[in-house]
Amino acid sequence: MLSPPSPGSPGPPRRVFIESFGCQMNDYDVARMREVLRRSGYEDTQEPEEADLIIINTCSIREKAEHKAISAAGRFKALKERRPELLLAVGGCVAQQEGEALLRRIPFVDLVFGPDQIARLPQHVGLLSGQRQVPARLRLRVARTEVIDVEDYEFLDADPRPGDVRVTALVTIQKGCDNECAYCIVPTTRGREVSRPPEQVLAEVERFVAAGAREVTLIGQNVNAYHGIGTPDGDDFAELLRRVDAVPGLLRLRFTTSHPQFFTRKVAAAFAELPRLCPWLHLPVQSGSSRVLQRMRRNYTREQYLEQIAWVRQACPDISLSTDIIVGYPGETERDFQDTLSLLSEIRYDFIYSFAYSPRPGTPAQHLPDDVPPAEKSRRLQAVQALQKEITSERLGRMVGRTEPVLIEGMARMGNGQLCGRTGGNHMVNIDPAGHTDPRALIGQLVPVTITAARTHTLAGTLS
Ligand code: SF4
Repeated sequence: MLSPPSPGSPGPPRRVFIESFGCQMNDYDVARMREVLRRSGYEDTQEPEEADLIIINTCSIREKAEHKAISAAGRFKALKERRPELLLAVGGCVAQQEGEALLRRIPFVDLVFGPDQIARLPQHVGLLSGQRQVPARLRLRVARTEVIDVEDYEFLDADPRPGDVRVTALVTIQKGCDNECAYCIVPTTRGREVSRPPEQVLAEVERFVAAGAREVTLIGQNVNAYHGIGTPDGDDFAELLRRVDAVPGLLRLRFTTSHPQFFTRKVAAAFAELPRLCPWLHLPVQSGSSRVLQRMRRNYTREQYLEQIAWVRQACPDISLSTDIIVGYPGETERDFQDTLSLLSEIRYDFIYSFAYSPRPGTPAQHLPDDVPPAEKSRRLQAVQALQKEITSERLGRMVGRTEPVLIEGMARMGNGQLCGRTGGNHMVNIDPAGHTDPRALIGQLVPVTITAARTHTLAGTLS
């Protein structure tokens, strides 16, 4: 039996390079991977060539993300051939789904691990790095995809360090999902829903604020289903929002992703009542046709969804809305598709994420006939995107001339000394510092910005 080096054992620091694909949940998981590995003697590197361990964190929600992750592994093959002692690991939802099969599919990968195994990552890596002297063909290769039982699941606490923390932070409030949307692989890859105890959520928000974060986004697959408190009316998520909103030093609060089936009037009212809750709601509708929604097993109708949007707009008339749209779902007729277009026209989202349906292995919808031809899916997707482009332009255009509070997140990537930040409605703004002598000093501050122009997806502004 090979014994792993003890965590934190002295010796030259080892380096880890992580490439991640997919959703915010994956971003959160990567942050936890970095922390558990840091505690066992690994430093981060941005250069795969100097890494002792490379991790590819995969996403299986969209076919494209899955292909990208698999081809990323191929890019590291030559490196692995040159340096056989390099460890190559694949984590995330594709790893969870495929397990041992992924080891066979990518024969130069050493470790495959699922999201529930992040806390044990140092042990898995320690076991494999203990066999550097073993000839490559005799080396152990491991798949660890056990899902931890709901009762035993423990959330990994984030360990934010001052100077290391961005202005905005993600804080997880749940893992997994108990829904059964027919197209979705999450219930299989992430397991049953577990709500994180509220005291852990609050302590983590406080730690992030103490380390320099000014905005927190509460994340989960279906945050409205949060049930960690046991409030008399059962609306634990509304209560959690109220508690987090009161954390001293926090400037802004957001949450994602919501599910319409669980979205309550109380959460809608929170947009009027909670001072730090930003006027932005991402409420994935997926389709404007109640018939398609039923086939997707979404458990709400177009009419119910529209009613929820009315609650939210009543509480916060200028709220910025966003959604997810799938076109070409099995059985989607032209009429169903027109219902989606008319929903977009009626609601007028600020932005959307739109996709053409592709069957995901392991989902109930995989067994439905994928009967919308690829060319038709593509036409529908283009029509959705063209319509939304006009609506986004109108929605961004309404901001021009206004002075908005913007949380400055950093220097714009290609901005000639410009700053970048977000409005409460989650619109990215590139900001002319207007002669400010030390623009960097504004990072982390909420400042008034006059919006001067609307671009395709972003705004331009100047410090007021
Ligand atoms: S709510 Fe539906 S789409 Fe969202 S993670 Fe759960 S099963 Fe997937």
